[in-house]
Order: sequence, then C-alpha cells, then structure tokens
Amino acid sequence: MSTEPLRLDQSEEAVPARRREDRTSSRSPVSGSGRTGVTLLAVVALANIVLWLLARPNGQPTGRFIGELCGAEAVLLFSCSLVLATLLAPIERAFGGLDRVALWHRRAAIGGVLLLIPHVALVSAAPDRYATSFGHALGDVALVGLLILTLWALAPSLRAARWPGVIRRMARASYQRWLTAHRLTGLFVMVAVVHGAIVDPMLHRSTLLLVVFLVVGGVGTGAYLYRELFARYFVPIYDYTVVDVQRLNKTTLTVTLSPMRRSLSFTPGQFVFVALGGAGGWERHPFSVSSSPSDSRLEVTIKASGDYTRELYDKLRPGVPAKLAGPFGGFDYRAGGRDQIWIAGGIGVTPFLSWTRSIDGRFDRSVDFYYSVAHADDAVYLDEFRAVSDRHPSLRVHLVCADADGMLTPDQVIRAVPSGTSPWVYMCGPPPMMKAFSAGLHRHGISKSRVRWEQFGAR
Ligand SMILES: Cc1cc2nc3c(=O)[nH]c(=O)nc-3n(C[C@H](O)[C@H](O)[C@H](O)COP(=O)(O)OP(=O)(O)OC[C@H]3O[C@@H](n4cnc5c(N)ncnc54)[C@H](O)[C@@H]3O)c2cc1C
Repeated sequence: MSTEPLRLDQSEEAVPARRREDRTSSRSPVSGSGRTGVTLLAVVALANIVLWLLARPNGQPTGRFIGELCGAEAVLLFSCSLVLATLLAPIERAFGGLDRVALWHRRAAIGGVLLLIPHVALVSAAPDRYATSFGHALGDVALVGLLILTLWALAPSLRAARWPGVIRRMARASYQRWLTAHRLTGLFVMVAVVHGAIVDPMLHRSTLLLVVFLVVGGVGTGAYLYRELFARYFVPIYDYTVVDVQRLNKTTLTVTLSPMRRSLSFTPGQFVFVALGGAGGWERHPFSVSSSPSDSRLEVTIKASGDYTRELYDKLRPGVPAKLAGPFGGFDYRAGGRDQIWIAGGIGVTPFLSWTRSIDGRFDRSVDFYYSVAHADDAVYLDEFRAVSDRHPSLRVHLVCADADGMLTPDQVIRAVPSGTSPWVYMCGPPPMMKAFSAGLHRHGISKSRVRWEQFGAR
C-alpha cells in the first residue's frame, strides 16, 4: 500500500466518530465503481493545468512557466494524497472502498514526486528575480525530504534482491519505525507550499494563480493537521475484556471479547483496531471482525505472523482488558451483483467468516467461495463453511491446499465461471496475492469495478 502509503494504523485517529444506536454499523456499505472519486481527482488535476494555461502571466519564458506549472501541479497532487489519507467515510464511498482510496492516495503522491523532476530541471535553467536564497533553501529541504521519504515509503514493496543495500535495509524497518518516519511526509509538503509561495514568479504575477495555489496547499495542510492532531478526538473507543482465547492450530488464535459497557457495532466484513493490555502494551493493530453483528460478543481471529501477533499467540489469556476503535472499511458482498466469487487467502478468511456467520434466509447470491490455504491443517474453518453451504446451497465452497493442489490462480477461478455470467469478485489475503489476482482477473476481462479486495498489509 508508493510514496505515501495509507497509514491504516492511524485510522482510529483519522476517521471521525460514527455514532451508532443499533447493532448495525451506521457506515453504509461501500458500493459502486468508485468512479466518482477518480473522476473528481482527474477533474481537479486537469482544472489546475487549464487554469495555469489560461492565466499565464505575460513575458514569462515557456521553460520556466512549464517548470512552475509542474511544481504547482505536484503540490496539488500531494494535497490530494493527504486528503485521501484522512480516510473519511465520504472519500471511501466516492472511491468505492479503502483498497481504491489506498491506490489513488499512492498514485497521486507518486505523480507529485515525478512532477518534481521537470520542475527542478526547468526552473533552475531560468532563474528569476524572486528567487531568494531562503526560498530556495526551503525548496531544497522539501525536495530532499520528499525524495527520501518516498524511498522510505516505497522500500517495503521493493523487496527485490537487486535493489541497493540501503533500500533493502529500509525495507526491513519495523512497521512502527517505518510509520514514525512516514508521518513526516506532510511536513515536507507544507515546506513545499511555503517555498512555492515565496519563489514562484508566476504566483507573484497572477493573483488568481496565487490564491488557487494557497487554497490547494491549505487544504492539503489542513488534511494533514487534521489527521495528525485532531482526528483522534472524533473517534470513540470501546472498552472490552478478553473472555476466551482459543488456539486453533500452531499459528491461529481466536480472541473473544465482551463489552464492558457499550458495544461496537459493525457491518460484516469491517475491521477494527484492537489494543490489548498486557502483552504488547496497548499496541494498536487492525483485525477484521470474524463474528456476526448479532453476537453480543465480538471475535477476532489472529495469525501469529510477526513479533506482536506471535507474542499474543504465546501469552494472551482471558481477563486482559482491550480497547477497540472502529469500525473501518466497507468490504461488503451485498454491494455486488448476484453471481460472485469469494477468494480467501490464509488468514484473509476472517471477513468471510463474519459474512457467512451473518447469512440468513434472505441470502440470494450465487457464490463460488475459494478457501485457499498452505496446508490442509490450516483450513480450520472448513467444516463451518461446509455447514453454511449445506444450509445455503448457492454458496459453494472449494478448498485449495497449496501443498497438494498448487497455488490457486486467477486462470483456475475464471475457468470455473459459467459462460454468460459476469461475476463480482471479493477477495482478502496477503498483498502479493491480492495484486496478482487483481491483475490476473483483469487480464481475463473482469472489470476492475467488479473486483473488491481487503488486503492485510498497511504499507
Ligand atoms: C484492514 C486489515 C485487516 C486485518 N485483519 C486481520 C485479521 O483479521 N487477522 C490477522 O491475523 N491479521 C489481520 N491483519 C494483519 C494484522 O494487522 C497484522 O498481521 C499485524 O498487525 C502484524 O503485526 P506484527 O507486529 O505481529 O507483525 P509485523 O511483522 O510487525 O507486521 C507485518 C505487517 O502487518 C502490518 N502491521 C503491523 N503493525 C501494524 C499496525 N499497528 N497497524 C497496521 N498495520 C500493521 C504492516 O503491513 C506490517 O508490514 C489485518 C490488516 C489490515 C490492514
């Protein structure tokens, strides 16, 4: 999840409170293709370019004008990226889900960084009298900061052995360390805005361009400050206690939580941030809820995959206090059509658990559900899914064990689709699997707007 990947672990600080009176989340499921958000982004980006062309001040050399236009457009894209990082519910709806918000957040920021190349090349070729050394120093600070933080942000997804050692070392940084540095990105965008306002000769010669530039920079700055400083005050925290811990196999545990006072309401498929007292000392981690909203207790199913989750697996016992924030996300099959494919990769099964545990007599989808695991022992919920399938035959469960059957592939899934149907695909699992399936399904002609995923990685 890229120059400024979405910081999901900040979500509870970032998303405003959604007050709920009943057991169903008031956050409506995310539906639609998400074209509204992308169209809006494209319109804003294009409008800025058109405005610059129309309001071009007289007597400015073309090279310098294009260089400054690139700089202003970069600031606009960075601001858009910061706005997307607020993860506000209307943004998620406009983009059709958090997966799409994350994608466009990253694309906007990468676009901004790329525009800095022509900006630097063209403006330094034709210096202007407004070029003060202080203004330039700010520009250098912003440029170096943004480039380093871009590398830092991208490093975890650039794990290829051919990258230089420094990038490989960056990629190995713990999530918390990575996040702490990553949070500085907005500061360098703010420095870039001040730099532009001081030295950009176009802004000195056109009040219209100056006002628009300041509004754009102000919106990005506001979004950043909101996320970093204020969003936490809008999010309710729910007190729970761990009442049961079951170790289902050598790496998977289910944690059952009972509310101390009011309970957190959610829609099946959503995730929450869980902070547990004791082991790990109130570290917040995102987990999809695996229980049904109709249960009075809330359940999360956790795979011991890193230091924190391994410690939980070893040490977590009933009686430990917990703080929950959320719910977040809008992974909801009810937003899709009748014919669907569900794909769960390993622990990515958790939102599907919540879905199947919530199915009632009104279930009207025809679903091929691929439960993909490394070994048969990992398919700890197979019997439960088969029982649901017996009650609802339009839900067909297919177990795929990588060691016996080979890895599940998009081709395999598509071959099983009856001709004449155009299914919606819902998938959840590790980021590389989600990327491979998204690309593979698209190659097979499944429209991107019909593919929805939740990925268990926040960078
Ligand atoms: C939306 C979402 C839903 C998830 N649902 C589940 C679930 O139901 N069951 C499950 O087992 N896992 C789930 N995960 C993954 C789970 O959050 C990570 O496995 C866990 O945080 C790893 O922590 P660690 O310190 O043990 O491992 P590490 O090795 O330190 O981290 C592994 C990866 O987990 C992510 N991560 C680590 N810490 C955080 C944090 N504080 N906030 C956000 N991301 C973090 C990062 O992408 C990191 O690269 C979910 C993740 C996301 C983003």
